[in-house]
Amino acid sequence: MKEDSIRVDLVSDTQSRPTPGMRRAMAEAAVGDEQRGSDPSTNRLCEMVADLLGKETAVFLPSGTMCNQVAILVHCRSGEEIIADETAHIITSEGAGAAALAGAWVRPLAGRNGVFSAEQVRAAIRPRNRNAPRSRLVAIEQTSNRGGGTVWPLSAIKAVVEVAREHELVLHMDGARLMNAVIASGTPAAEFAAPFDSVWLDLSKGLGCPVGGVLAGRTDFIEEAWRWKHRLGGAMRQSGILAAAGIYALEHHVERLAEDHANARLFAEHIAGITGIELRPASVETNLVFFSVEGTGLSAAEIAARALERGVHIGVEGSHVMRAVTHLDVDRRGVEEAAETLATVIGDVPKAGLAHGKY
Ligand SMILES: *Cc1c(COP(=O)(O)O)cnc(C)c1O
Repeated sequence: MKEDSIRVDLVSDTQSRPTPGMRRAMAEAAVGDEQRGSDPSTNRLCEMVADLLGKETAVFLPSGTMCNQVAILVHCRSGEEIIADETAHIITSEGAGAAALAGAWVRPLAGRNGVFSAEQVRAAIRPRNRNAPRSRLVAIEQTSNRGGGTVWPLSAIKAVVEVAREHELVLHMDGARLMNAVIASGTPAAEFAAPFDSVWLDLSKGLGCPVGGVLAGRTDFIEEAWRWKHRLGGAMRQSGILAAAGIYALEHHVERLAEDHANARLFAEHIAGITGIELRPASVETNLVFFSVEGTGLSAAEIAARALERGVHIGVEGSHVMRAVTHLDVDRRGVEEAAETLATVIGDVPKAGLAHGKY
């Protein structure tokens, strides 16, 4: 089911393919008309996610990007300001949707590995006068993607929420990888989600579905989200085929995220021994491994191209920064092979201890 030339695909957790069990669930899904609220599988998925996140209700959307954009469209009016980390997906990867669609702009904060502090939020909130943009929304990413798969600790969330509430700001959680944070930390999803007016999780990342995200919040918020979903062309018909994949993933693919985290750590341990590679950040918390290749004398693009020739797909995140992502289609042997390939293309001899026998 995969291009033959790629044996180990670490470019993203979106590269995971629906499993045979998931495909069966999709084929057998009960369906209706989502736009009319009569698709039973979609309704069930939305109930499951609302329960999981401790919210009143939820809506199924075609992508995580649409979850972010619909939430921003509901929360923000033209001329308002969103506070987010400078690495946030809404800044780097959504076509400036906040500005293009809602007329809002994003004030970037220089957080630590994607996690900013309550003090930074306090300093960023504008004075209430006629000249300043109106501070409106604080958005956090759980886990932080370009921060390195970092988990926002509950204490850091609570501190930020307190300042935001003091200033009557709205709170949004981009929970693309929220379940990774739940498995890594042991904190229930509803506890992470509790203070947020809107929160969503992505089905097509580590959960392994082909399509979709589910956005949750209060009933009045979701009512407004539905208007935008429809307006943007995101309302569907027999979406139960897709929702069934989400239900299957929530039942079968959450606990196993621990394997992805273990494989990411194993990969990180192996590549940390390669001369010229430096992990960024040094510790791997979930399924994302960012590393600098500056010390190898090669660019990230050169290394990626050479690895790809050998069937290993790793992402390029900057001139000398790479990203490897574990997911359900990569096993322990796969990450060992990927680390071995990296060492080979960089021309390094793997260090004793890690490599003996295995390579
Ligand atoms: C992938 C991702 C998104 C967007 O999700 P899509 O389903 O790809 O549209 C948003 N935020 C973060 C942090 C992501 O990693």
